[in-house]
Amino acid sequence: MYIELVKYPDPLLREVSKDVTFPLDDKTSRLIKFMYRAMYQHHGIGLAAVQIGYTKRMFVMDTSRAGDKPQVFFNPEIVKKSTETLCDNEGCLSAPGKTGEVRRDLRIILKYQDEEGKEQQKTFYNLAARCIQHELDHLEGKLCIDYEKGDYNERKHNAEAMVESDFRTKSNS
Ligand code: ZN
Repeated sequence: MYIELVKYPDPLLREVSKDVTFPLDDKTSRLIKFMYRAMYQHHGIGLAAVQIGYTKRMFVMDTSRAGDKPQVFFNPEIVKKSTETLCDNEGCLSAPGKTGEVRRDLRIILKYQDEEGKEQQKTFYNLAARCIQHELDHLEGKLCIDYEKGDYNERKHNAEAMVESDFRTKSNS
């Protein structure tokens, strides 16, 4: 089964996702496997729930070389960051063919809940740290393509909203 992803400039990608409550309901439990499948199918290393149409604060990730170590994170929050950052180009499964130059922290400590709702705290480095920061942006309605020369650019975000409303006005008239 092919899983269609929500693609830019769909306004859903601009929504702020809501907290997941525990114990997980059946729908959310099923969503985990569905998200793993979507991530592997599209050859991604991370996927936020909003990318398959659910505005919930959850994402999946697998940064292993073999692609056999899927992890799921609920209600994630960065509690500590390194002072070192790195600027690099980032792509997004929801914005094919586009990239953004994004400055990310090299090391983060993430607090999150696991599938059982148990609180976890772990340190992540390099690619995993970058991927997590990218997914956290999704939960806030931000995209890597909004960044310019490393920094988040509100103007780029808002410019897109204007284009969308222009489009709507035109198609309504
Ligand atoms: Zn993305």
